[in-house]
Amino acid sequence: MTGRGLFTPSDLVTITRAAFLAEKLTADHFSLADDEWKRNPYTVLTRKEVSDSFYQHDVFAHVVCRVPEPMRQTRTGLCEDFAIVLQDPAILRALLRNTSRDLWTLALFILTHELIHIVRFRKFGVDFFASTKDRDEEERVVYDITARILRGVSNTNELIELYRPFSGTDVYQITV
Ligand SMILES: [Zn+2]
Repeated sequence: MTGRGLFTPSDLVTITRAAFLAEKLTADHFSLADDEWKRNPYTVLTRKEVSDSFYQHDVFAHVVCRVPEPMRQTRTGLCEDFAIVLQDPAILRALLRNTSRDLWTLALFILTHELIHIVRFRKFGVDFFASTKDRDEEERVVYDITARILRGVSNTNELIELYRPFSGTDVYQITV
């Protein structure tokens, strides 16, 4: 961790390892093919890799997607190329607030949650552009699935209790 609130190279190694497990747990839960994440890759971005317009001070992460040019007016076949934008400052602040938490566990929690969003956008017809009310409901669903997947895994139980929907885990946002 650094004073500037950005991930260090060693933090990024930890996050990459957490992402591998999050991918596996999510794929198992949804009975996805072993090569799901190879065929449908996503990107993990950190604070310094994105512009200020992607900065969300009160969430840990959000999902963004690219909309191909011809689709921008039609809202059909919309999102391609999903990415998870991690907000280093918020994540590191949460770790500083409680030293019994560790980055590996928190990253596993966050990445599992965001990968579930991506699977649901891609395979379950969930609308990336849904109304606030529908988004709130989607957060509940994603939270419940996250809890089911992670309950008993490592020391994630405390995080499951702590970050119920609407406590600022994430938000999803479009990028064009
Ligand atoms: Zn969410």
